[in-house]
Amino acid sequence: MRERPEHKLYSELGQIRLLKARNPDLVIGVAGCMAQREAQTIRNRVPEVDILLGPRNLHHLPILVRRAQSGQESDGLDLECDPTPATPMRRSSAISAYVNIIFGCNFKCTYCAVPSARGPEVSRRPGEVLDEIRQLSDLGYREITLLGQTVNAYGHDLGRLEDATRLDFAWLLEQINEINPTLRVRFTSPHPMYFNPRLVETIAATESVCEHLHLPLQSGDDACLRRMNRTYTTEKYRRVIADIRAKVADVAVTTDAITGFCGETDAEFENTMEFFREIEFDQAYLFAYSPRHSTQAFDWPDDVPLATKKERLARLIDLQQTISRDKNRRQVGQTFEVLVEGRSDKDPDKMMGRTRANKLVIFPASPTTHPAGTLVEVRADEAFLWGFKGEMTRTVSDATAPRVLLDLQMV
Ligand code: SF4
Repeated sequence: MRERPEHKLYSELGQIRLLKARNPDLVIGVAGCMAQREAQTIRNRVPEVDILLGPRNLHHLPILVRRAQSGQESDGLDLECDPTPATPMRRSSAISAYVNIIFGCNFKCTYCAVPSARGPEVSRRPGEVLDEIRQLSDLGYREITLLGQTVNAYGHDLGRLEDATRLDFAWLLEQINEINPTLRVRFTSPHPMYFNPRLVETIAATESVCEHLHLPLQSGDDACLRRMNRTYTTEKYRRVIADIRAKVADVAVTTDAITGFCGETDAEFENTMEFFREIEFDQAYLFAYSPRHSTQAFDWPDDVPLATKKERLARLIDLQQTISRDKNRRQVGQTFEVLVEGRSDKDPDKMMGRTRANKLVIFPASPTTHPAGTLVEVRADEAFLWGFKGEMTRTVSDATAPRVLLDLQMV
């Protein structure tokens, strides 16, 4: 169980190397954290691999493929010193775009392989980030999600401007708002330790920042949080949520949590259940713990039996689903601003979109009159676990036809 991702990789490579035996021009590449971490082993075990590419250098892929095709050395790991790649993101939507603003992580959560694979936090230069967002706004994108392992740590390595203004995450949100206050701005994932009153004030006061906070919790028990080395207590987490809820009306709060981490007792798990009842998250992404290579906890006894992890996970999911449904039911009758994303998968005769709080809404409309990118208001008539069904009450603004479509940014 422990080595499943590695087994999967070598089993896939075993298949692909057979193809290369039949077609010597085939270029084989391994990209991502595992390529970074297992580089020497991969080279030894599968010498047919042409390209090994670290996670920060995915944008170098085209040039490395060309090099491999011409028989040159194509290893991308030594490019890891490129701290802030220009634009590594593929745009898979014409209305929503992801923008990396910070890479790596300075924390050392004991279950997480990110710090060893991606190194310490490095912020992208602000001019570069803002240029990219200006360009996306000009192209007609309506929603930007800022990305980073600790996204709200942005700027702590950048110092100050000449007038002594600190280049921090709050400052970046303000600058983005000045570019286009009608953009919807989201961010993931922030860390509780990088929240301060100024950031909360800025989120509350900045029109473009959506009323949705995804704040990973991981455990609702202080002893378990210490073993995870999350560096905050449940009290600190509780205060962040209370501050946000006090300042940002109707904010939705979502989280991540892990059940069955090393040493998690029944009492610790019950504390997590209780914390979930207290905070009442809108949604949660919940996982049973499994050890990862290159983490501190990998060497610790994985001592919660799988059946217990699963049983705790099922109980937590059940609790969260009840809370999510109840919270959505309490919002029936309200009208939400919805950004149309396209036809509904659940009901193809209808359209779907998301509220600013990131809840899914399905409503009768047609892609001809209300294509993706249109902003509408929808009254929520029926609540579900995943969101609402309702009736459109008005069109707020028409879709801006993107002047250039997808994948413009790919190298
Ligand atoms: S869980 Fe998040 S904060 Fe912790 S080490 Fe991993 S990336 Fe960093």
